[in-house]
Parts: sequence; structure tokens; C-alpha cells
Amino acid sequence: MISVTEALQHINNHCTPSKVAKKPIKKVMGMVLAADVLSPINMPPFKQSAMDGYAFEYSDDTTYMVVGEVQAGSSENIKLGRGEAVRIFTGARVPNDADTVVMQEHVTRADGCIEIKILPKPKANVRPLGEQITKGAIALEKGTTLNEAGVGFLAGLGIAKVDVYQTPKVSVLITGDELQKVGKELEEGQVYDSNSLTLQLALKRLGITEVRVSKVKDDLRSTTKAIEKHLKKSDVVLISGGISVGDYDFVQQALMDNNAKEVFYKVNQKPGKPLWFGYKGNTKIFALPGNPASSLICFYVYVWPLLKAQMGYQEFHLPRLRAKAKTAIKNSYDKTIFLKGNVSNGNVSVLTGQASSMLKSLAVSNALLIVPSNIEEINKGEYITYIQL
Ligand code: AMP
Ligand code: MG
Repeated sequence: MISVTEALQHINNHCTPSKVAKKPIKKVMGMVLAADVLSPINMPPFKQSAMDGYAFEYSDDTTYMVVGEVQAGSSENIKLGRGEAVRIFTGARVPNDADTVVMQEHVTRADGCIEIKILPKPKANVRPLGEQITKGAIALEKGTTLNEAGVGFLAGLGIAKVDVYQTPKVSVLITGDELQKVGKELEEGQVYDSNSLTLQLALKRLGITEVRVSKVKDDLRSTTKAIEKHLKKSDVVLISGGISVGDYDFVQQALMDNNAKEVFYKVNQKPGKPLWFGYKGNTKIFALPGNPASSLICFYVYVWPLLKAQMGYQEFHLPRLRAKAKTAIKNSYDKTIFLKGNVSNGNVSVLTGQASSMLKSLAVSNALLIVPSNIEEINKGEYITYIQL
């Protein structure tokens, strides 16, 4: 059995970005740029008015004759002589002969002339060509996570497609003959399947929405076949349950029968000891313990970083922070323990209901407290590390 630190080291060794694909910008929200994006144009592409008002060549004069009008979108370059101005609107091209725009609220207009009441500074209200970015400059760097502003910026530069790291294809295989579908009547001995939904939603938080989910019977043949199918179609396979040592736990054997390579099996932790991680070809495989809280905790600690790294994120672990323990926290297990907790105002409290089967506590927890295996007790007021959920 390996330690949590060793297990995380193994995961880190497999944390590499997945393939790069050119995608239309409409489809890259939340994805990471795999290459610098250069601007194909100057932005703004012309000397542009930032106000509705009048454009003129700056001088101390305050009276100008209005000799024309430039609407946004017009390409016209009206010639201006001394003492002449043009009516102009926000976003419109400022004539070559003008360098300043006075806002319309600061002038009075009569008989085709304007009288400037408040003289702006020279070059005021004019966005110079390429003010935001010049042609050929880096618009967004490799490694940038694209949000709505980023995608909008690319659109504003007329960039239709960009290179991004592909979102991994993930599948979830649910084992457990005792599991009943939500919405159906529970028969004696059955429990509802919650992991399929929990895992799908945890994946959704990462922006992974197309997830193949299937259920398999607790027998070796079916499990082996199901895993074989999933391996062919996925970058990452998550298997729920059946990885313990019970007589109906067939996942480990089925993985071996598929010639999957084991990286580690069993971690000195609570919950989540029977975690299996390995790969076949380029497909990574996690066999997660079936207990709902174990399964989700293993997802946060081990699956999350691997997926984030595949998606091209440089920071791929959930944030680890420190705060003060509100009460003493004991660890009598010689294992690293992950505790469902809450952090508020810099203080950490441990929730009741720590069993690996219990999601009730995890549902209201905002922090996964980490007590390392070599620490028997954290005193009240001492700092404890936690994973922010
Ligand atoms: P296993 O890891 O298959 O031995 O399962 C451990 C425990 O988790 C058992 O009590 C199972 O009934 C429960 N369990 C396994 N899979 C699920 C699931 N998909 N949803 C809810 N509970 C599950
Ligand atoms: Mg089972």
C-alpha cells in the first residue's frame, strides 16, 4: 500500500495535456489555449471616436463650423480646414485632419457652428489606431483559459478558430447488483445508485459534459467486456465500486484481463483505501471505491487534477489552503485522513457523519480537511491544510 503523497506523485507523473485541436471560438468556452494567438488586425482598426460629439484639430479656438457628419461604420474621410469640425458618433472613424473629440454635452450648437463650453485636453476622446492591440502582437497567450471575455476579445479581432487542448472523453462504468435507478421502487436489500449522477456532475464542473455512463452486472465476464468497450472509446475511464476485496468485486481482475497496467492499488488513506489507478495505451483508468463519499473524495483528490491537466491547466489541483482548527482533531489510524469540514472566517470545523457511505455531510461541506498519516492530533488553534471544494 502506498501513501497519499506517493499516490499523488504517480498522478502528477501522468498529468499531461491532451491533444490539441483547432476549434471554432463558439465552442472553446472554459478551454485552454494551446498556442499564442496573434492579432490579425490593429484594434481599433482605425482612429476611433470614444464619444458622441464633434471632431476637430486641437487648438485654443472654441468656435468651429460643422462641415459634415461621420456615422459609426462610415469610411468617409472628411477634409477639415482651420476652424472646421465634424459631427461624430461613438465608434466612428475620426477624420485624418482631426485629433480631438469634444463631447456633445460640452458644446452649444447654432447656425451650423459649435461653441465649445468646456475645452477637452488635446487628443481627448479619440482611441488611437491599435490602442488595445497592434497587428501581429500576442492577443492571448498559450495557457490562457478562455472565458466569455476572452472569446469576445477573439471575436472582436475577427479570429474564428483557435488551438485549444481537447476536452478528454470520459466514461463512467457503474458496478453493483444492489443498485436501483432513481425513480424506481427500492426493493429490500437495494440502494439507489447515486455515484453515476455525482460523478457526472463533478465532471460537469470541469466542463466535461459528454459522458458515456453505463452499468454492469457484478460478474467477471460482463465487467471485463464492459471495461474493454469503455477503454476503446475514452481518454479516461472511471469505474465505480467493485474494486474492494469482496467476493463480488471483479474490477481488478477485469482490468488485468484487459491488460491494463496498474500504477497503484490501495492508498493508505481514509476514506478511499481501495483506489486503483492505471492505464491502457493512452487511456487512463480510475477504479473508485463504491461508497459514495469515498468515490467523490477520490475524484476531488486524484481524478480532478488529472483531468484538469489533460485540459491544459497549469494549476490542476483543487486549491489547498490553511486555516485554524476550531477544536482538536484526532487521527488514530496511521493513515492520511480526509475529513468533511467547513471553513468560515479562517476557522475549520469538522462535520459529523464522516463515514465513507455518507454524503449528507459532504453535501454541506466546503472543505476537505487533510490530516497526514504521521500526525496523531491537531490541537485547537493549530493550522490544518484543507482542499477547498
Ligand atoms: P463496493 O465498492 O462495490 O464494495 O461498494 C461499497 C458500498 O458502496 C456498498 O455499500 C455499495 O452499495 C455502495 N455503492 C456502490 N456503488 C454505489 C453507487 N453507484 N451509488 C451508491 N452507492 C453505491
Ligand atoms: Mg459492489
